[in-house]
Amino acid sequence: MMWRNIQREKIPWFPTIDEKKCTACKTCFEFCPHSVYQMEGTTAKVDHPYQCVVGCSNCQSLCPQGAISFPDIKEIKAFITDLKRDQPRE
Ligand code: SF4
Ligand code: SF4
Repeated sequence: MMWRNIQREKIPWFPTIDEKKCTACKTCFEFCPHSVYQMEGTTAKVDHPYQCVVGCSNCQSLCPQGAISFPDIKEIKAFITDLKRDQPRE
């Protein structure tokens, strides 16, 4: 899968769930249109992290437990800029 000519798997943008806080309410699982989450036992799991849209964090504020976190978007942007610099031009 590519994202703006970069291998999506090279970009560390995806949610992380604090399993101690998650109550398996399914909100994130039902909301995400990209099937990033799966329900597994007593928590949601990030099953397909690289299907998460780079820069999207819409599900974070919906979690009633505050269990979902994302990396710092500024750091990711800087990281992507570095990746692009290292890429061979077409
Ligand atoms: S919305 Fe929050 S509490 Fe609900 S399943 Fe997702 S991570 Fe767990
Ligand atoms: S940030 Fe957007 S794409 Fe990523 S898991 Fe949440 S709702 Fe899905």
